[in-house]
Amino acid sequence: MCGIVGYIGYRDAYPILIDGLKRLEYRGYDSAGVALMNGSINLYKKQGKVADLESHVGAQSTDGHVGMGHTRWATHGEPNDINAHPHCSASGNFALIHNGIIENYSSLKAKLTSKGYTFQSGTDTEVLVQLIEMIYSESEVTPEEAVRLALNEVVGAYGIIVMCQDEPGKLIVARKSSPIVIGIAENEYVIASDATPIIAYTKDVIYLNDDEMAILTKDSHTIKTIGNEIRTPFLQRVEMELEELEKGGYDYFMLKEIFEQPKSIADSIRGRINPNDNSVWLGGLVDVHERLKNAKRFIFVACGTSWHAGLVGEYLFEEYARVPVEVEYASEFRYRNPIITEDDVVIAISQSGETADTLAAVQIAKTAGALVLGVVNAVGSTISRETHAGVYIHAGPEIGVASTKAFTSQVTVLSLMAAFIAQLKGISSFKSQEVVNELLQIPEKVRTILETNEDIIRISDLFKDSSNFLYLGRGYNFPVALEGALKLKEISYIHAEGYPAAEMKHGPIALIDENMPVVFIATHDESYDKIVSNVDQVVSRKGRVIAVVTEGDETIRNLAEFVIEIPKSHPSLMPLLSVIPLQLLSYHVAVMRGCNVDQPRNLAKSVTVE
Ligand code: GLU
Repeated sequence: MCGIVGYIGYRDAYPILIDGLKRLEYRGYDSAGVALMNGSINLYKKQGKVADLESHVGAQSTDGHVGMGHTRWATHGEPNDINAHPHCSASGNFALIHNGIIENYSSLKAKLTSKGYTFQSGTDTEVLVQLIEMIYSESEVTPEEAVRLALNEVVGAYGIIVMCQDEPGKLIVARKSSPIVIGIAENEYVIASDATPIIAYTKDVIYLNDDEMAILTKDSHTIKTIGNEIRTPFLQRVEMELEELEKGGYDYFMLKEIFEQPKSIADSIRGRINPNDNSVWLGGLVDVHERLKNAKRFIFVACGTSWHAGLVGEYLFEEYARVPVEVEYASEFRYRNPIITEDDVVIAISQSGETADTLAAVQIAKTAGALVLGVVNAVGSTISRETHAGVYIHAGPEIGVASTKAFTSQVTVLSLMAAFIAQLKGISSFKSQEVVNELLQIPEKVRTILETNEDIIRISDLFKDSSNFLYLGRGYNFPVALEGALKLKEISYIHAEGYPAAEMKHGPIALIDENMPVVFIATHDESYDKIVSNVDQVVSRKGRVIAVVTEGDETIRNLAEFVIEIPKSHPSLMPLLSVIPLQLLSYHVAVMRGCNVDQPRNLAKSVTVE
């Protein structure tokens, strides 16, 4: 996934690049590197985080008004200094940074090797920079033309920035399937994988499209396709404030984002509910009413936490819009020859809007003739542009690698969509209007739950050394059990499993003993009595029960070792409340274990590679 940033203009590039890389570290932090043009290309790279690169650079000269930086999530070649980007061509004339995978790198490498090229690194990326050099030296073309011709030979995904010593006042940028945003200011450009490194300098941006490249000098830009057609760029304004990208006094972005949820959920709802009759209006779907109304089936495609939101969506859509739903892992869907028809609506759920597997699923569904919608957070992202229509979740930038506020906003938007489709279909509105009315109360209820933080810290302290956790829930709380388990394992590295509570007796019950914490999500709904029995079964096997319950629940309080009370709500909206204590539990356990929750090992936030 990697983060890339570039600068060309009149300021010192280095601090801009470092600052940008820190904002992009959520994309990967195996190594970091910078190239600066100062007569020749000066290269600094280091395994580890951007802070390690800064210490490595130390007091060395960092002059240069043109430069680029990279923070890596390794796909090819282990994370070490040599494999860190930027990579240089054999002569040192070209330097390149890359986000993506050059899938045909072996055949390209064989071709280059047969011509005497040798390779320093184990990366696929180095092959591309050598290929550019080979074309440049053999064909006597300009550097930008060499890049263009090389890209015509590449199979795979790339967001790249290239510098060439022969043309020191230029940056060459290109994309296919990996995001590139170009910020345009007076006599300077800032290029990055997302807008966050850019907005301190300008809010005017161009989102590069697939198969496009940009040639930048400090005061000019030319956009063309890799087929060599000139394109007129579409200038957009980014609505994002710098404060949204800071920790605002919290120790970690994740904690800030957990505490932001009363606001982010309210932002997802804002302007979408008519207060007079609780009807829902989703402007992004205005052109697709007929197809939504007549859809025979909905298919949600997503990965990770977004997939869990999709599971909640399945329950919501089937209950309110009375239409069959399938929830698919995008990575499986794309390779399994799925049956899709023009009567299907495929909904891609992705926080970043750049998730490679989800994007591929979008393309497949489009080709098959389905209506394809996006439920996306990042405005202007690839999925939001590639889908026919969609609904932004408006959660604001989510920087912690473990998703929290994006999950609750996805579920919020999916519940609005379910009610909206019910409305379109003329399904008796009583049930869905009741839910919509209840949705308006959710932000305040989330605020109340956040006040239990101190209790959750105490519980976390008692369980922080556990090696395993089991999470159990039924109905709407089953996806929450999955999400709670995922949250814990991704940031604390404790093994955790989520299960439908009733399935416990078909296997996981064998794991229960006095060392097994079992988190029940057991709020009041129609299966409450059943889950009380499940709690009993765990307690009688000496499992240690932590239960998330509806306020005033004395039955489970008498059974469980710990209870966390949350306010009453409509059962179908319970995931928006019951997930909050689980986010806090995993956060505190991870911090107590000394983990860096914003940058968990081996993970990156926006998974733009397969
Ligand atoms: N394939 C490149 C590498 O391993 C870039 C990785 C990525 O963008 O995730 O260095």
